Amino acid sequence: MDWWVSMPKVELHAHLNGSIRNSTLLELARDMGEKGTIVFSDFEHVIKKNDRSLREVFKLFDLIHIVTTDHKTITRITKEVVEDFAAENVVYLELRTTPKVPECYNFGKLLQRNDSIGMSKRSYMEAVVEGLRSVSSSLDINFACDYPEKSSATAEKKIYVRLLLSIDRRESTAAAMETVNLALEMRDMGVIGIDLSGNPTIGEWATFFPALKFAREQGLHITLHCGEVPNPVEIQAMLHFLPGRIGHACCFQDEEWKKLKSSKIPVEICLTSNIQTETISSMDVHHFAELYKAKHPIVLCTDDSGVFSTNLSNEYALAANTFGLGKAELFELAKRAVNFIYAGNRVKMELIEVFESAGRTLE
Ligand code: 5GP
Repeated sequence: MDWWVSMPKVELHAHLNGSIRNSTLLELARDMGEKGTIVFSDFEHVIKKNDRSLREVFKLFDLIHIVTTDHKTITRITKEVVEDFAAENVVYLELRTTPKVPECYNFGKLLQRNDSIGMSKRSYMEAVVEGLRSVSSSLDINFACDYPEKSSATAEKKIYVRLLLSIDRRESTAAAMETVNLALEMRDMGVIGIDLSGNPTIGEWATFFPALKFAREQGLHITLHCGEVPNPVEIQAMLHFLPGRIGHACCFQDEEWKKLKSSKIPVEICLTSNIQTETISSMDVHHFAELYKAKHPIVLCTDDSGVFSTNLSNEYALAANTFGLGKAELFELAKRAVNFIYAGNRVKMELIEVFESAGRTLE
């Protein structure tokens, strides 16, 4: 395992709130229990449960949203998540998060409006950026053009972080457009693109399409959660849109595989997530193997390291063990991921240098 930790890695599919430390989530839930906002024992059971189905995972996200409704908490989670990725030698992180809709749900039921505690999509994102600014001094972080790169002589590691704003599939066209406009306003704070995520059984492609099209016209990069549930019409529409990358691609049929392969759209592969949510029945039938063999552009990612109790080193170790790949092959796979990042050429060249230097020292 140590080798996979030492290897530099690129993380392109990580949801901020899904990457929350379990210890932090429990602490926040306990605090809320003491204040009488929630019944802690009910929540403790949900948090500690492993192997959640896709439905249960979205229940857990509703819970996470309840305990992450203030700015201080968002800042803390962001700081911890970036530090956790850096600690396992993730050298470039595209962190995605949903600027909070002004509602907070409890297992699908509206619980409170976040605007009642003074949170807007913008203030939520400002709290995220504050988290980036407050990472430990033992870490050099590069995240925004107008923010001087924080580097200190004592720093042990360096990480590049860029932000993607997620549109939640529960949202309306107007709310999606609000997220895109916010992303445009926050470009100088490290925001480089838009993600479409949230419960895949909810919402229509036609609702999000105008906002995604506008985002792309304005120069934002796009990644879509695609094919988490069988929905050939939506999958076809998404592939036709030609996003910069897609996440998951679990429920594709022959026609969609053909289209994906000819389009060469890179796929963000989340092994543990797909197995735990049962979107893929077992690792031996996971499409990683087929896409890897076909030399289709792919990148290994965590999805929600907190919710699925994993990390990126673990995902690489898992791919090695499951698909019989060696260290050199997976090192190459990690390095190739630099081609699919949304940051510009200067960052790409610096990352290639990081990989080349690591390649000379790692055995
Ligand atoms: P956040 O956007 O609040 O920082 O991260 C958690 C949110 O990301 C979840 O509420 C959900 O909308 C989205 N998300 C996390 N994991 C998945 C996933 O595997 N599939 C989809 N479709 N959405 C996800």
